[in-house]
Amino acid sequence: MKTETIAIHGGNAVTDSLKPVIQPITLSSTFEHQEESMLYGRLENPNRKSLERVMAALEKGLDAAAFASGNAAANAVFQALPAGSHIIAPDDMYHGLKSLLETVYKDKLKIDFINLTEPALVEKAITADTRLLWIESPSNPLLKISDINRLSAIAHAKGLSVVVDNTFASPIFQQPLLEGADMVMHSNTKYIGGHSDIIGGILITGEINDFWKGIKTVQKLAGAVPSPFDTYFLTRSIKTLPYRMQAHAANAGTIAGFLAQHPSVETVYYPGLETHNGHAVARSQMKGFGGMLSFVIKGNARAADRFIEELRYFTNATSLGGVESLIERRSRIQGVSEGIPEQLIRMSVGLENVNDLLEDLEKGLQILQ
Ligand SMILES: *Cc1c(COP(=O)(O)O)cnc(C)c1O
Repeated sequence: MKTETIAIHGGNAVTDSLKPVIQPITLSSTFEHQEESMLYGRLENPNRKSLERVMAALEKGLDAAAFASGNAAANAVFQALPAGSHIIAPDDMYHGLKSLLETVYKDKLKIDFINLTEPALVEKAITADTRLLWIESPSNPLLKISDINRLSAIAHAKGLSVVVDNTFASPIFQQPLLEGADMVMHSNTKYIGGHSDIIGGILITGEINDFWKGIKTVQKLAGAVPSPFDTYFLTRSIKTLPYRMQAHAANAGTIAGFLAQHPSVETVYYPGLETHNGHAVARSQMKGFGGMLSFVIKGNARAADRFIEELRYFTNATSLGGVESLIERRSRIQGVSEGIPEQLIRMSVGLENVNDLLEDLEKGLQILQ
């Protein structure tokens, strides 16, 4: 099956004798004992299984484990590591996961946040206790591109596991398991759900090994599992994922080009731009450059806020991956830090007509002149 066909048929398992075309939502929390049946809703559920099956197929993996949020999915990976393990994580990392590591895992894991665009720095950071390399590419919010293939080779030579947060790219544009990674993580809240109405997460593995079995144990026993409603709607959303991603990327590419030549814009971070310093690597490991971009305007935080207030079609809100365009001044969420000035704006480009979006941005940018 090709991608679009997997997206539509890979998550549909009809067992009902009425033969509905669409797999129904199974709300039951428990199942009648039989020779081969499901046992209990925390351990398994038909809708969760279908979501896991279609996501494993899209990522070219062998198995998947769905969770109640992206953070819960990542947390299962960290929980499955032996206490005291050293892990290497990106310096530009989704701030909610960075916070999880810096608070909950402060005394349980040793963590180094490294610039993964410099593979030599990763090699240098590996110690005898290092168990995991966590990659996020493109990264949030600077859209840094890490060379998954090269980093996986470095990590595997030292016996580390490699997990890629593939949320920004989606499996339509990037399949990290084919680039050598061991596992993929998604916040299903973003492009997978695609309509800004579900919180969810998932892990996909390329191999059934002890680390994976440990993660499945965390899923079942710690129990941060998604509901039948949520997994049903995620499986439904995935049917249009290939088409949504193409449209997100087309709109984002046009907007990135427009912003890059605008006199009120200082810098644009979008891997599809030839001027982006990860462009060549992105070209080699991605089939499309995604719908996320960041840019720095000429001016201060106040000017950035005034510009955002001026917009009609971009809602000033955090999160990403929905059909509606969102925009935010990123330091409101994660504070000012290296590479993230107060006037850095992050944009999730939606599926509105791109000419409406361009007109809106042009009008908004006028107030900066
Ligand atoms: C949103 C996000 C997460 C966390 O997912 P939740 O569903 O919010 O828990 C992790 N990584 C990236 C890149 C994200 O954008």
